[in-house]
Amino acid sequence: MVWEERWHPLREEWVIVAAHRQDRPWSGSTVKNKSEELPEYVEDCYLCPGNARVSGMVNPQYRQTFVFDNDHPSVSTEAPIELTTPPGIFRNRPAHGIARVVCYSPKHNLTLGELAPAEIVNLVQVWQQQYKDLATRPEIEHVLIFENKGEAVGVSNPHPHCQIYATNFVFKTIETEARTSERHLAETGQVLFQDILAAEKEDGRRIIAENETAIAFLPYFARYAYEVFVAPKVTHPNIASLSDCETRDFADVLKRVLVKFDNLWQMPFPYVMPLHQAPVDGRDYPGFHFHIEFHPPLRKPNLLKYLAGPEIGGGNFLSDTSAEDKAAELRAQSDIHYKHLPKQEMR
Ligand SMILES: [Zn+2]
Ligand SMILES: [Zn+2]
Repeated sequence: MVWEERWHPLREEWVIVAAHRQDRPWSGSTVKNKSEELPEYVEDCYLCPGNARVSGMVNPQYRQTFVFDNDHPSVSTEAPIELTTPPGIFRNRPAHGIARVVCYSPKHNLTLGELAPAEIVNLVQVWQQQYKDLATRPEIEHVLIFENKGEAVGVSNPHPHCQIYATNFVFKTIETEARTSERHLAETGQVLFQDILAAEKEDGRRIIAENETAIAFLPYFARYAYEVFVAPKVTHPNIASLSDCETRDFADVLKRVLVKFDNLWQMPFPYVMPLHQAPVDGRDYPGFHFHIEFHPPLRKPNLLKYLAGPEIGGGNFLSDTSAEDKAAELRAQSDIHYKHLPKQEMR
């Protein structure tokens, strides 16, 4: 049982860990575990190959990944320039940016963890190309690549895909991580994330997967039960500068984490998955260490972690689970996806 406060050095905030609360009686709502078999192609899916989207554009018969500009962009180069000036202290500006969608696969019924290793390597390369393309545009200050997966995080279309928001501002979490990393480098001469990696390795209990150049761990200061970070071992401020070998290793560790997630409850595991990369606002960020963060909303197969009083009301997380226990659960999962196991080996 863990009951203590843990400091989150990247966000500079306390996480309250109260793992003894995990088994308290629950009579609230649950999330449906949909194990229905989906087909490879769905006629009215706007992401499947050959289908028309709301814009009238028709998707090509793509074979691997497919990137297009979001038909309902939240930020766009076409956002209105003529804005009404608000009164007094209020300020506004155009919602300029570029929003894109990246389909991982033509197959409607796959999850990221089910893609072949080479397909995940290809996807990481697509992320690298997209980053390089968007980062150099003068109006763009940050490139946020993220996947929302599962109905638990509000995604109704299971077709495997992620989104890109290239924005004219830096998102708050990235701004915080950039600031903490920069200050740590100035004060200690060390990369903050490297110090986190060193402490995780020293403890060892929360490391989920590892190879020569990449690592995944459930951080000491995790806010969500199954929060996992995936990172290259060498510091790169963004994904674009990973070498071919690092890209392969990163894809390998990423796949192992995803497979363990899906295996945990033998269901597509819901999560929010942002890539945390340094801003592209023209400054250098030598202390920023690129990583992926998984923020899974479930605590148990059918039980959501609701953000309530402490999180929304106060702004700090209250974790109902111990990071060591949850890491042990993930470590114990097979590296072979449950859908690919022979039936008799299914647990
Ligand atoms: Zn589809
Ligand atoms: Zn981060």
